[in-house]
Amino acid sequence: MTELPKRYPECCKKGHKLSDDLVYTPKNGPSKWRCRVCLRASYKRHYEAKCERRKAEGWVPNASRVVPPKKTICRGGHPWLPETTYVSPTTTHRQCRICRKLRLDRLAAERKIRRAAEKAARKARAKAVIDELTTPVEVSSAGDLPA
Ligand SMILES: [Zn+2]
Ligand SMILES: [Zn+2]
Repeated sequence: MTELPKRYPECCKKGHKLSDDLVYTPKNGPSKWRCRVCLRASYKRHYEAKCERRKAEGWVPNASRVVPPKKTICRGGHPWLPETTYVSPTTTHRQCRICRKLRLDRLAAERKIRRAAEKAARKARAKAVIDELTTPVEVSSAGDLPA
């Protein structure tokens, strides 16, 4: 049994050290191989060239794909500090603890006001019923009564 010839040299043309992980071999051509580092660089070059071409035609990169600059303050104007930042483990979405507390406080205050209003309304309803039941029924005229 003859030893299989090595499919790729030590380094690629650009001098990237090659290993099985770093060599791409298409299924249909085992003799053809590409350096993955070079491939990635060429994809990037193609993509950037495409972007440049499209920009020249007046294309604006999609805002969602442009990484926004890291904000130093939250929407409420509080600084993002490790102590005041809560990061959700499931969504990795960060939340300002100060804003969160303020929101919860506001909700609690609103709930308190609503409860008080409901209580007052309940009391007013009860009073109306009691008033109705305790007010003597006016007899409009004696003539209406059967003789
Ligand atoms: Zn290479
Ligand atoms: Zn905040």
